[in-house]
Amino acid sequence: MTEVLDVLVVGAGITGLSLAHKLTKLSNNSPLKILVAESQNRVGGNITTVSQGEFLWEEGPNSFSPTPELLKLAVDVGLKQDLIFADRKLPRYVYWNGQLLPVPMSPKTMLQSQLLSSWGKLRAMVGALGFVRPVVGMDISQQGGEETVSQFFQRHLGVEVMERLVEPFVSGVYAGDPGQLSVAAAFSRVARMADVGGGLLAGAILSGKRNSKSKVPVDPNIPKTKAGELGSFRGGLEALPKAIATYLGEAVRLNWRLVGIRRTEEQTYIAEFSTPNGSEQIETRNIVLSTPAYVCADLFKPVLPEISSAFDEFYYPTVACVVLAYPVSSIKAKIDGFGNLIPRGQGIRTLGTIWSSTLFPGRTPPGWQIFTNFIGGATDPEISQLDSEAIVARVHQDLGQTLLSRDAEKPKVLAVHLWSRAIPQYNLGHNSRLAQINHGLKSWPGVYLCSNYIGGVALGDCVRRGTEVATEIYRSLDT
Ligand SMILES: Cc1cc2nc3c(=O)[nH]c(=O)nc-3n(C[C@H](O)[C@H](O)[C@H](O)COP(=O)(O)OP(=O)(O)OC[C@H]3O[C@@H](n4cnc5c(N)ncnc54)[C@H](O)[C@@H]3O)c2cc1C
Repeated sequence: MTEVLDVLVVGAGITGLSLAHKLTKLSNNSPLKILVAESQNRVGGNITTVSQGEFLWEEGPNSFSPTPELLKLAVDVGLKQDLIFADRKLPRYVYWNGQLLPVPMSPKTMLQSQLLSSWGKLRAMVGALGFVRPVVGMDISQQGGEETVSQFFQRHLGVEVMERLVEPFVSGVYAGDPGQLSVAAAFSRVARMADVGGGLLAGAILSGKRNSKSKVPVDPNIPKTKAGELGSFRGGLEALPKAIATYLGEAVRLNWRLVGIRRTEEQTYIAEFSTPNGSEQIETRNIVLSTPAYVCADLFKPVLPEISSAFDEFYYPTVACVVLAYPVSSIKAKIDGFGNLIPRGQGIRTLGTIWSSTLFPGRTPPGWQIFTNFIGGATDPEISQLDSEAIVARVHQDLGQTLLSRDAEKPKVLAVHLWSRAIPQYNLGHNSRLAQINHGLKSWPGVYLCSNYIGGVALGDCVRRGTEVATEIYRSLDT
Protein backbone atom coordinates (compact mmCIF):
# COMPACT_ATOMS: atom_id res chain seq x y z
CA MET A 1 0.00 0.00 0.00
CA THR A 2 1.82 3.12 -1.18
CA GLU A 3 -0.50 5.98 -2.08
CA VAL A 4 -4.06 6.92 -1.17
CA LEU A 5 -6.45 6.62 -4.11
CA ASP A 6 -9.11 9.21 -4.86
CA VAL A 7 -11.63 6.64 -6.09
CA LEU A 8 -11.63 2.86 -6.04
CA VAL A 9 -14.26 1.27 -8.30
CA VAL A 10 -15.03 -2.34 -7.49
CA GLY A 11 -16.44 -4.34 -10.42
CA ALA A 12 -15.73 -3.87 -14.13
CA GLY A 13 -19.23 -4.56 -15.42
CA ILE A 14 -20.80 -1.88 -17.62
CA THR A 15 -21.82 0.19 -14.56
CA GLY A 16 -18.39 0.35 -12.95
CA LEU A 17 -16.64 0.92 -16.27
CA SER A 18 -18.94 3.74 -17.38
CA LEU A 19 -18.50 5.40 -14.00
CA ALA A 20 -14.70 5.15 -14.17
CA HIS A 21 -14.75 6.47 -17.76
CA LYS A 22 -16.84 9.52 -16.84
CA LEU A 23 -14.69 10.29 -13.78
CA THR A 24 -11.53 10.05 -15.85
CA LYS A 25 -12.97 12.41 -18.45
CA LEU A 26 -14.22 14.89 -15.84
CA SER A 27 -10.80 15.05 -14.19
CA ASN A 28 -8.93 15.37 -17.47
CA ASN A 29 -7.10 18.55 -16.42
CA SER A 30 -6.01 17.30 -13.06
CA PRO A 31 -6.20 13.50 -13.19
CA LEU A 32 -7.61 11.67 -10.21
CA LYS A 33 -6.02 8.52 -8.84
CA ILE A 34 -8.58 5.91 -9.89
CA LEU A 35 -8.41 2.13 -9.82
CA VAL A 36 -11.00 -0.34 -11.17
CA ALA A 37 -10.71 -3.77 -9.56
CA GLU A 38 -12.45 -6.77 -11.13
CA SER A 39 -12.58 -10.28 -9.67
CA GLN A 40 -12.78 -12.08 -13.03
CA ASN A 41 -10.08 -12.35 -15.67
CA ARG A 42 -12.16 -10.25 -18.09
CA VAL A 43 -14.19 -7.05 -18.09
CA GLY A 44 -17.90 -6.73 -18.91
CA GLY A 45 -19.62 -8.64 -16.10
CA ASN A 46 -22.91 -9.92 -17.51
CA ILE A 47 -21.99 -8.86 -21.04
CA THR A 48 -20.69 -12.05 -22.65
CA THR A 49 -20.12 -12.22 -26.41
CA VAL A 50 -18.79 -15.45 -27.87
CA SER A 51 -17.75 -16.36 -31.40
CA GLN A 52 -16.93 -19.68 -32.98
CA GLY A 53 -16.23 -19.98 -36.70
CA GLU A 54 -18.87 -17.90 -38.47
CA PHE A 55 -21.24 -17.95 -35.48
CA LEU A 56 -21.35 -15.00 -33.09
CA TRP A 57 -23.74 -14.88 -30.12
CA GLU A 58 -24.47 -13.28 -26.76
CA GLU A 59 -24.92 -15.28 -23.54
CA GLY A 60 -26.00 -12.32 -21.38
CA PRO A 61 -27.65 -9.15 -22.68
CA ASN A 62 -28.42 -9.27 -26.42
CA SER A 63 -29.00 -5.63 -27.29
CA PHE A 64 -29.51 -2.18 -25.81
CA SER A 65 -32.03 0.61 -26.15
CA PRO A 66 -29.91 3.44 -27.54
CA THR A 67 -30.01 5.99 -24.72
CA PRO A 68 -28.07 9.27 -25.19
CA GLU A 69 -25.58 8.38 -22.42
CA LEU A 70 -24.82 4.93 -23.83
CA LEU A 71 -24.38 6.24 -27.37
CA LYS A 72 -22.13 9.05 -26.16
CA LEU A 73 -20.00 6.57 -24.24
CA ALA A 74 -19.69 4.32 -27.31
CA VAL A 75 -18.67 7.27 -29.49
CA ASP A 76 -16.19 8.53 -26.85
CA VAL A 77 -14.36 5.19 -26.76
CA GLY A 78 -14.09 5.03 -30.55
CA LEU A 79 -16.96 2.68 -31.40
CA LYS A 80 -19.05 5.03 -33.56
CA GLN A 81 -18.38 3.04 -36.74
CA ASP A 82 -19.10 -0.27 -34.98
CA LEU A 83 -22.58 0.66 -33.78
CA ILE A 84 -25.34 -1.36 -35.44
CA PHE A 85 -29.10 -1.00 -35.07
CA ALA A 86 -31.82 -3.52 -35.75
CA ASP A 87 -34.65 -2.49 -38.04
CA ARG A 88 -37.16 -1.01 -35.60
CA LYS A 89 -40.07 -2.07 -37.80
CA LEU A 90 -39.35 -5.75 -37.08
CA PRO A 91 -42.31 -6.99 -35.05
CA ARG A 92 -42.16 -8.61 -31.60
CA TYR A 93 -44.40 -11.63 -31.12
CA VAL A 94 -46.32 -13.18 -28.26
CA TYR A 95 -47.22 -16.88 -28.39
CA TRP A 96 -50.88 -17.16 -27.41
CA ASN A 97 -53.31 -20.05 -27.95
CA GLY A 98 -50.96 -21.88 -30.31
CA GLN A 99 -50.13 -18.87 -32.51
CA LEU A 100 -47.40 -16.26 -32.77
CA LEU A 101 -49.23 -12.92 -32.71
CA PRO A 102 -47.53 -9.54 -33.28
CA VAL A 103 -47.44 -7.21 -30.28
CA PRO A 104 -49.50 -4.07 -31.05
CA MET A 105 -47.18 -1.06 -31.01
CA SER A 106 -49.79 1.71 -31.47
CA PRO A 107 -53.43 2.35 -30.46
CA LYS A 108 -54.46 1.60 -34.08
CA THR A 109 -52.72 -1.81 -34.22
CA MET A 110 -54.06 -2.51 -30.72
CA LEU A 111 -57.61 -2.19 -32.06
CA GLN A 112 -56.81 -4.61 -34.90
CA SER A 113 -54.81 -7.07 -32.77
CA GLN A 114 -55.92 -10.67 -32.33
CA LEU A 115 -53.96 -10.87 -29.11
CA LEU A 116 -56.80 -9.29 -27.12
CA SER A 117 -60.52 -10.04 -27.26
CA SER A 118 -62.99 -7.21 -28.01
CA TRP A 119 -63.83 -7.13 -24.32
CA GLY A 120 -60.10 -6.99 -23.43
CA LYS A 121 -59.59 -4.03 -25.77
CA LEU A 122 -62.61 -2.17 -24.40
CA ARG A 123 -61.47 -2.81 -20.82
CA ALA A 124 -57.98 -1.52 -21.63
CA MET A 125 -59.35 1.60 -23.34
CA VAL A 126 -61.70 2.46 -20.50
CA GLY A 127 -58.88 2.00 -17.96
CA ALA A 128 -56.38 4.02 -20.01
CA LEU A 129 -58.89 6.88 -20.08
CA GLY A 130 -58.89 6.98 -16.30
CA PHE A 131 -61.87 4.85 -15.25
CA VAL A 132 -59.83 2.94 -12.71
CA ARG A 133 -60.88 1.70 -9.31
CA PRO A 134 -58.77 3.05 -6.43
CA VAL A 135 -56.17 0.98 -4.59
CA VAL A 136 -57.95 -0.71 -1.71
CA GLY A 137 -58.00 -4.03 0.05
CA MET A 138 -56.24 -6.33 2.41
CA ASP A 139 -53.49 -7.34 -0.01
CA ILE A 140 -52.30 -3.79 -0.43
CA SER A 141 -52.27 -2.98 3.28
CA GLN A 142 -50.36 -6.22 3.95
CA GLN A 143 -47.87 -5.10 1.31
CA GLY A 144 -47.16 -1.84 3.11
CA GLY A 145 -49.39 0.08 0.69
CA GLU A 146 -47.28 -1.01 -2.27
CA GLU A 147 -48.87 -2.46 -5.38
CA THR A 148 -47.43 -5.32 -7.40
CA VAL A 149 -47.00 -5.01 -11.16
CA SER A 150 -49.79 -7.53 -11.59
CA GLN A 151 -52.24 -5.65 -9.35
CA PHE A 152 -51.43 -2.29 -10.94
CA PHE A 153 -51.87 -3.34 -14.57
CA GLN A 154 -54.97 -5.43 -13.87
CA ARG A 155 -56.50 -2.42 -12.13
CA HIS A 156 -55.58 0.01 -14.92
CA LEU A 157 -55.80 -2.04 -18.11
CA GLY A 158 -57.52 -5.32 -17.22
CA VAL A 159 -56.56 -8.99 -16.94
CA GLU A 160 -55.97 -9.60 -20.64
CA VAL A 161 -53.39 -6.81 -21.07
CA MET A 162 -51.72 -8.00 -17.89
CA GLU A 163 -51.52 -11.67 -18.90
CA ARG A 164 -50.83 -11.33 -22.60
CA LEU A 165 -48.64 -8.22 -22.80
CA VAL A 166 -47.28 -7.10 -19.43
CA GLU A 167 -46.41 -10.54 -18.03
CA PRO A 168 -44.36 -11.61 -21.08
CA PHE A 169 -42.67 -8.19 -21.10
CA VAL A 170 -41.74 -8.69 -17.43
CA SER A 171 -40.25 -12.08 -18.38
CA GLY A 172 -38.28 -10.41 -21.15
CA VAL A 173 -36.75 -7.71 -18.94
CA TYR A 174 -36.49 -9.22 -15.46
CA ALA A 175 -37.26 -12.95 -15.90
CA GLY A 176 -39.52 -11.83 -13.07
CA ASP A 177 -42.81 -12.58 -11.37
CA PRO A 178 -45.36 -9.74 -11.83
CA GLY A 179 -47.06 -10.94 -8.64
CA GLN A 180 -43.88 -10.08 -6.69
CA LEU A 181 -42.41 -7.10 -8.54
CA SER A 182 -43.21 -3.67 -7.08
CA VAL A 183 -44.72 -1.34 -9.65
CA ALA A 184 -43.18 1.70 -7.93
CA ALA A 185 -39.70 0.16 -8.13
CA ALA A 186 -39.81 -1.85 -11.38
CA PHE A 187 -42.04 0.45 -13.46
CA SER A 188 -41.45 3.75 -11.72
CA ARG A 189 -42.11 5.84 -14.83
CA VAL A 190 -45.48 4.18 -15.48
CA ALA A 191 -46.40 4.43 -11.79
CA ARG A 192 -45.66 8.19 -11.93
CA MET A 193 -47.87 8.54 -15.03
CA ALA A 194 -50.73 7.06 -13.02
CA ASP A 195 -50.05 9.47 -10.15
CA VAL A 196 -50.74 12.42 -12.47
CA GLY A 197 -54.42 11.37 -12.47
CA GLY A 198 -56.77 10.95 -15.41
CA GLY A 199 -55.48 7.48 -16.39
CA LEU A 200 -52.33 6.18 -18.05
CA LEU A 201 -53.14 7.79 -21.40
CA ALA A 202 -53.25 11.31 -19.92
CA GLY A 203 -50.14 10.53 -17.84
CA ALA A 204 -48.27 9.33 -20.93
CA ILE A 205 -49.21 12.44 -22.91
CA LEU A 206 -48.23 14.77 -20.07
CA SER A 207 -44.90 13.08 -19.40
CA GLY A 208 -44.17 13.07 -23.17
CA LYS A 209 -44.75 16.84 -23.21
CA ARG A 210 -42.48 17.33 -20.21
CA ASN A 211 -39.71 15.22 -21.78
CA SER A 212 -39.88 17.13 -25.06
CA LYS A 213 -39.52 20.41 -23.13
CA SER A 214 -36.45 19.20 -21.22
CA LYS A 215 -34.62 17.92 -24.31
CA VAL A 216 -30.84 18.13 -23.99
CA PRO A 217 -29.06 19.82 -26.92
CA VAL A 218 -28.42 17.43 -29.80
CA ASP A 219 -24.78 16.33 -30.08
CA PRO A 220 -23.98 16.07 -33.81
CA ASN A 221 -21.39 13.39 -33.07
CA ILE A 222 -23.98 10.98 -31.74
CA PRO A 223 -25.92 8.86 -34.22
CA LYS A 224 -29.62 9.70 -34.43
CA THR A 225 -31.90 6.88 -33.37
CA LYS A 226 -35.65 6.39 -33.19
CA ALA A 227 -37.87 5.05 -30.43
CA GLY A 228 -38.07 1.26 -30.42
CA GLU A 229 -34.67 0.75 -32.04
CA LEU A 230 -32.26 -1.79 -30.51
CA GLY A 231 -28.50 -1.52 -30.78
CA SER A 232 -25.34 -3.56 -30.57
CA PHE A 233 -21.83 -3.49 -32.05
CA ARG A 234 -20.50 -5.27 -35.11
CA GLY A 235 -18.39 -7.55 -32.93
CA GLY A 236 -21.10 -7.98 -30.28
CA LEU A 237 -21.84 -6.12 -27.03
CA GLU A 238 -18.53 -7.00 -25.39
CA ALA A 239 -16.87 -4.49 -27.72
CA LEU A 240 -18.09 -1.72 -25.39
CA PRO A 241 -16.58 -2.86 -22.05
CA LYS A 242 -13.38 -3.86 -23.85
CA ALA A 243 -13.05 -0.42 -25.47
CA ILE A 244 -13.69 1.34 -22.12
CA ALA A 245 -11.08 -0.86 -20.44
CA THR A 246 -8.59 0.08 -23.19
CA TYR A 247 -9.38 3.76 -22.57
CA LEU A 248 -8.79 3.29 -18.82
CA GLY A 249 -5.52 1.40 -19.43
CA GLU A 250 -3.53 0.48 -16.35
CA ALA A 251 -6.26 1.69 -14.00
CA VAL A 252 -8.02 -1.66 -14.53
CA ARG A 253 -6.85 -4.65 -12.47
CA LEU A 254 -8.21 -8.08 -13.38
CA ASN A 255 -8.38 -11.06 -11.00
CA TRP A 256 -8.61 -8.67 -8.06
CA ARG A 257 -11.43 -9.77 -5.73
CA LEU A 258 -12.49 -7.44 -2.94
CA VAL A 259 -12.77 -9.47 0.27
CA GLY A 260 -13.15 -6.80 2.95
CA ILE A 261 -13.50 -3.06 3.67
CA ARG A 262 -12.80 -1.12 6.83
CA ARG A 263 -12.77 2.51 7.86
CA THR A 264 -9.73 4.37 9.10
CA GLU A 265 -9.58 7.27 11.55
CA GLU A 266 -8.36 9.54 8.70
CA GLN A 267 -11.76 9.35 6.92
CA THR A 268 -10.40 6.89 4.36
CA TYR A 269 -11.11 3.21 3.67
CA ILE A 270 -8.86 0.18 3.45
CA ALA A 271 -9.99 -2.32 0.83
CA GLU A 272 -8.50 -5.77 1.01
CA PHE A 273 -8.18 -7.81 -2.19
CA SER A 274 -7.37 -11.37 -3.02
CA THR A 275 -5.11 -11.26 -6.13
CA PRO A 276 -2.95 -13.75 -8.05
CA ASN A 277 0.01 -12.31 -6.11
CA GLY A 278 -1.63 -12.80 -2.74
CA SER A 279 -3.42 -10.31 -0.55
CA GLU A 280 -3.27 -6.59 -1.48
CA GLN A 281 -4.51 -3.61 0.51
CA ILE A 282 -5.59 -0.32 -1.05
CA GLU A 283 -6.30 2.89 0.83
CA THR A 284 -8.88 5.16 -0.79
CA ARG A 285 -10.91 8.28 -0.06
CA ASN A 286 -13.91 7.04 -2.00
CA ILE A 287 -15.07 3.58 -2.88
CA VAL A 288 -17.75 2.62 -5.41
CA LEU A 289 -19.29 -0.82 -5.09
CA SER A 290 -20.62 -1.75 -8.52
CA THR A 291 -20.90 -5.40 -7.50
CA PRO A 292 -24.19 -7.33 -7.12
CA ALA A 293 -26.16 -6.87 -3.87
CA TYR A 294 -25.28 -10.38 -2.60
CA VAL A 295 -21.56 -9.48 -2.84
CA CYS A 296 -22.23 -6.29 -0.83
CA ALA A 297 -24.09 -8.42 1.75
CA ASP A 298 -20.92 -10.49 2.35
CA LEU A 299 -18.65 -7.44 2.41
CA PHE A 300 -20.74 -5.56 4.99
CA LYS A 301 -21.53 -8.55 7.23
CA PRO A 302 -18.58 -8.03 9.59
CA VAL A 303 -18.77 -4.21 9.65
CA LEU A 304 -22.41 -3.13 9.15
CA PRO A 305 -24.53 -6.25 9.80
CA GLU A 306 -27.85 -4.33 9.71
CA ILE A 307 -27.37 -3.25 6.11
CA SER A 308 -25.84 -6.60 5.17
CA SER A 309 -29.15 -8.32 5.88
CA ALA A 310 -31.02 -5.73 3.76
CA PHE A 311 -28.62 -6.46 0.84
CA ASP A 312 -29.30 -10.17 1.31
CA GLU A 313 -33.01 -9.64 0.65
CA PHE A 314 -32.54 -8.68 -3.01
CA TYR A 315 -33.54 -11.75 -5.01
CA TYR A 316 -31.61 -12.80 -8.13
CA PRO A 317 -33.36 -15.82 -9.75
CA THR A 318 -31.61 -18.44 -11.85
CA VAL A 319 -31.95 -18.08 -15.62
CA ALA A 320 -30.48 -20.27 -18.34
CA CYS A 321 -29.52 -18.73 -21.65
CA VAL A 322 -29.64 -21.47 -24.26
CA VAL A 323 -28.21 -20.58 -27.66
CA LEU A 324 -29.19 -23.01 -30.41
CA ALA A 325 -28.48 -22.91 -34.15
CA TYR A 326 -30.78 -24.58 -36.69
CA PRO A 327 -30.59 -24.91 -40.45
CA VAL A 328 -33.33 -22.67 -41.87
CA SER A 329 -34.96 -25.77 -43.38
CA SER A 330 -35.91 -26.80 -39.80
CA ILE A 331 -37.95 -23.66 -39.20
CA LYS A 332 -41.68 -23.46 -39.95
CA ALA A 333 -42.39 -19.93 -38.72
CA LYS A 334 -41.70 -16.81 -40.75
CA ILE A 335 -38.64 -15.41 -38.99
CA ASP A 336 -39.23 -11.73 -39.64
CA GLY A 337 -39.06 -10.16 -36.18
CA PHE A 338 -37.08 -9.54 -32.98
CA GLY A 339 -38.33 -12.72 -31.35
CA ASN A 340 -41.18 -14.06 -29.28
CA LEU A 341 -42.24 -14.06 -25.65
CA ILE A 342 -44.45 -16.69 -24.06
CA PRO A 343 -46.95 -15.91 -21.30
CA ARG A 344 -47.16 -18.57 -18.58
CA GLY A 345 -50.00 -21.08 -18.85
CA GLN A 346 -49.37 -21.87 -22.55
CA GLY A 347 -47.76 -25.26 -21.84
CA ILE A 348 -44.31 -23.88 -22.72
CA ARG A 349 -41.53 -23.59 -20.18
CA THR A 350 -39.19 -21.33 -22.21
CA LEU A 351 -39.78 -17.67 -21.32
CA GLY A 352 -38.84 -16.26 -24.68
CA THR A 353 -36.68 -16.58 -27.76
CA ILE A 354 -34.63 -13.89 -29.46
CA TRP A 355 -34.32 -14.49 -33.20
CA SER A 356 -30.75 -13.30 -32.88
CA SER A 357 -29.48 -13.69 -36.40
CA THR A 358 -32.53 -11.86 -37.79
CA LEU A 359 -32.11 -9.07 -35.26
CA PHE A 360 -28.46 -8.58 -36.19
CA PRO A 361 -27.74 -10.35 -39.50
CA GLY A 362 -24.32 -11.70 -40.43
CA ARG A 363 -23.79 -13.71 -37.26
CA THR A 364 -24.20 -17.21 -38.79
CA PRO A 365 -22.93 -19.11 -41.80
CA PRO A 366 -25.40 -18.91 -44.72
CA GLY A 367 -28.50 -21.08 -44.24
CA TRP A 368 -28.45 -21.05 -40.44
CA GLN A 369 -30.51 -19.29 -37.78
CA ILE A 370 -29.56 -18.66 -34.15
CA PHE A 371 -32.28 -18.74 -31.49
CA THR A 372 -31.26 -17.34 -28.09
CA ASN A 373 -33.67 -18.76 -25.50
CA PHE A 374 -34.24 -17.87 -21.87
CA ILE A 375 -35.71 -20.39 -19.43
CA GLY A 376 -36.11 -20.30 -15.63
CA GLY A 377 -36.49 -17.01 -13.77
CA ALA A 378 -38.57 -16.07 -10.74
CA THR A 379 -41.59 -18.14 -11.78
CA ASP A 380 -39.54 -21.30 -12.43
CA PRO A 381 -36.82 -21.69 -9.77
CA GLU A 382 -36.73 -25.49 -10.37
CA ILE A 383 -34.70 -24.83 -13.53
CA SER A 384 -31.56 -24.90 -11.37
CA GLN A 385 -32.18 -28.63 -10.77
CA LEU A 386 -31.88 -29.58 -14.45
CA ASP A 387 -28.57 -30.36 -16.11
CA SER A 388 -27.56 -28.74 -19.41
CA GLU A 389 -28.72 -31.68 -21.50
CA ALA A 390 -32.19 -31.65 -19.95
CA ILE A 391 -32.43 -27.86 -20.39
CA VAL A 392 -31.53 -28.11 -24.10
CA ALA A 393 -34.05 -30.95 -24.57
CA ARG A 394 -36.79 -28.85 -22.98
CA VAL A 395 -36.00 -25.75 -25.03
CA HIS A 396 -35.86 -27.80 -28.26
CA GLN A 397 -39.25 -29.34 -27.37
CA ASP A 398 -40.70 -25.86 -26.74
CA LEU A 399 -39.29 -24.54 -30.02
CA GLY A 400 -40.99 -27.51 -31.69
CA GLN A 401 -44.28 -25.95 -30.62
CA THR A 402 -43.49 -22.34 -31.47
CA LEU A 403 -41.03 -22.11 -34.36
CA LEU A 404 -39.72 -25.41 -35.71
CA SER A 405 -41.10 -27.75 -38.33
CA ARG A 406 -42.14 -31.30 -37.30
CA ASP A 407 -39.07 -32.91 -38.84
CA ALA A 408 -36.62 -30.31 -37.45
CA GLU A 409 -33.05 -31.49 -37.02
CA LYS A 410 -31.44 -31.58 -33.59
CA PRO A 411 -29.83 -28.18 -32.99
CA LYS A 412 -26.20 -27.27 -32.93
CA VAL A 413 -25.84 -26.29 -29.25
CA LEU A 414 -23.74 -23.15 -29.10
CA ALA A 415 -24.19 -22.46 -25.37
CA VAL A 416 -26.06 -23.32 -22.20
CA HIS A 417 -25.10 -20.56 -19.81
CA LEU A 418 -26.69 -20.99 -16.40
CA TRP A 419 -26.84 -17.62 -14.65
CA SER A 420 -27.33 -18.86 -11.08
CA ARG A 421 -28.06 -15.29 -9.94
CA ALA A 422 -29.10 -13.43 -13.04
CA ILE A 423 -31.09 -10.20 -12.70
CA PRO A 424 -32.03 -8.41 -9.43
CA GLN A 425 -35.78 -8.39 -8.85
CA TYR A 426 -37.31 -5.03 -7.93
CA ASN A 427 -39.80 -6.84 -5.70
CA LEU A 428 -42.14 -5.43 -3.03
CA GLY A 429 -40.07 -3.62 -0.39
CA HIS A 430 -37.28 -2.79 -2.89
CA ASN A 431 -37.34 0.97 -2.33
CA SER A 432 -37.56 0.69 1.45
CA ARG A 433 -34.63 -1.77 1.48
CA LEU A 434 -32.59 0.76 -0.50
CA ALA A 435 -33.62 3.54 1.92
CA GLN A 436 -32.53 1.38 4.87
CA ILE A 437 -29.16 0.71 3.23
CA ASN A 438 -28.61 4.38 2.38
CA HIS A 439 -29.46 5.32 5.95
CA GLY A 440 -26.98 2.74 7.29
CA LEU A 441 -24.27 4.06 4.98
CA LYS A 442 -24.62 7.65 6.23
CA SER A 443 -21.85 6.94 8.74
CA TRP A 444 -19.61 5.76 5.86
CA PRO A 445 -19.25 8.91 3.71
CA GLY A 446 -17.39 8.28 0.47
CA VAL A 447 -18.93 4.82 -0.02
CA TYR A 448 -21.13 4.77 -3.14
CA LEU A 449 -23.40 2.02 -4.44
CA CYS A 450 -23.78 1.85 -8.19
CA SER A 451 -25.11 -1.33 -9.70
CA ASN A 452 -28.14 -2.68 -11.54
CA TYR A 453 -30.23 -3.15 -8.39
CA ILE A 454 -30.53 0.68 -8.31
CA GLY A 455 -32.16 2.74 -11.06
CA GLY A 456 -32.93 0.00 -13.59
CA VAL A 457 -31.42 -3.17 -15.03
CA ALA A 458 -31.16 -2.24 -18.71
CA LEU A 459 -27.69 -1.46 -20.04
CA GLY A 460 -28.77 2.14 -20.76
CA ASP A 461 -29.89 2.54 -17.13
CA CYS A 462 -26.53 1.18 -15.90
CA VAL A 463 -24.58 3.68 -18.03
CA ARG A 464 -26.83 6.58 -16.99
CA ARG A 465 -26.43 5.79 -13.31
CA GLY A 466 -22.66 5.25 -13.67
CA THR A 467 -22.42 8.68 -15.29
CA GLU A 468 -24.57 10.31 -12.60
CA VAL A 469 -22.64 8.82 -9.68
CA ALA A 470 -19.32 9.79 -11.32
CA THR A 471 -20.55 13.39 -11.54
CA GLU A 472 -21.68 13.31 -7.90
CA ILE A 473 -18.27 12.00 -6.76
CA TYR A 474 -16.40 14.53 -8.88
CA ARG A 475 -18.43 17.40 -7.40
CA SER A 476 -17.81 16.16 -3.87
CA LEU A 477 -14.05 15.99 -4.56
CA ASP A 478 -14.15 19.45 -6.08
CA THR A 479 -15.66 20.97 -2.97
C1 LIG B 1 -29.08 -13.28 -19.02
C2 LIG B 1 -29.22 -11.79 -19.03
C3 LIG B 1 -29.79 -11.15 -20.13
C4 LIG B 1 -29.91 -9.75 -20.14
N1 LIG B 1 -30.39 -9.13 -21.25
C5 LIG B 1 -30.36 -7.78 -21.36
C6 LIG B 1 -30.63 -7.12 -22.60
O1 LIG B 1 -30.86 -7.75 -23.64
N2 LIG B 1 -30.58 -5.77 -22.62
C7 LIG B 1 -30.27 -5.02 -21.52
O2 LIG B 1 -30.26 -3.78 -21.61
N3 LIG B 1 -29.96 -5.62 -20.34
C8 LIG B 1 -29.98 -6.98 -20.24
N4 LIG B 1 -29.60 -7.60 -19.07
C9 LIG B 1 -29.27 -6.77 -17.90
C10 LIG B 1 -27.84 -6.19 -17.97
O3 LIG B 1 -27.00 -7.08 -18.66
C11 LIG B 1 -27.28 -5.98 -16.57
O4 LIG B 1 -28.19 -5.26 -15.76
C12 LIG B 1 -25.95 -5.22 -16.60
O5 LIG B 1 -25.04 -5.86 -17.46
C13 LIG B 1 -25.39 -5.13 -15.19
O6 LIG B 1 -24.15 -4.48 -15.20
P1 LIG B 1 -23.39 -4.16 -13.84
O7 LIG B 1 -22.10 -3.59 -14.19
O8 LIG B 1 -24.30 -3.38 -12.95
O9 LIG B 1 -23.25 -5.57 -13.11
P2 LIG B 1 -22.38 -6.83 -13.54
O10 LIG B 1 -22.39 -7.00 -15.00
O11 LIG B 1 -22.89 -7.95 -12.68
O12 LIG B 1 -20.91 -6.45 -13.08
C14 LIG B 1 -20.47 -6.55 -11.78
C15 LIG B 1 -18.98 -6.89 -11.81
O13 LIG B 1 -18.50 -6.95 -10.47
C16 LIG B 1 -17.56 -8.03 -10.41
N5 LIG B 1 -17.41 -8.45 -9.01
C17 LIG B 1 -18.29 -9.14 -8.25
N6 LIG B 1 -17.79 -9.32 -7.01
C18 LIG B 1 -16.58 -8.72 -6.97
C19 LIG B 1 -15.59 -8.55 -5.96
N7 LIG B 1 -15.76 -9.05 -4.73
N8 LIG B 1 -14.46 -7.88 -6.27
C20 LIG B 1 -14.27 -7.35 -7.52
N9 LIG B 1 -15.18 -7.48 -8.51
C21 LIG B 1 -16.32 -8.15 -8.24
C22 LIG B 1 -18.18 -9.09 -11.29
O14 LIG B 1 -17.25 -10.07 -11.69
C23 LIG B 1 -18.71 -8.25 -12.45
O15 LIG B 1 -17.76 -8.12 -13.47
C24 LIG B 1 -29.47 -8.99 -19.03
C25 LIG B 1 -28.89 -9.64 -17.93
C26 LIG B 1 -28.75 -11.01 -17.93
C27 LIG B 1 -28.08 -11.70 -16.76
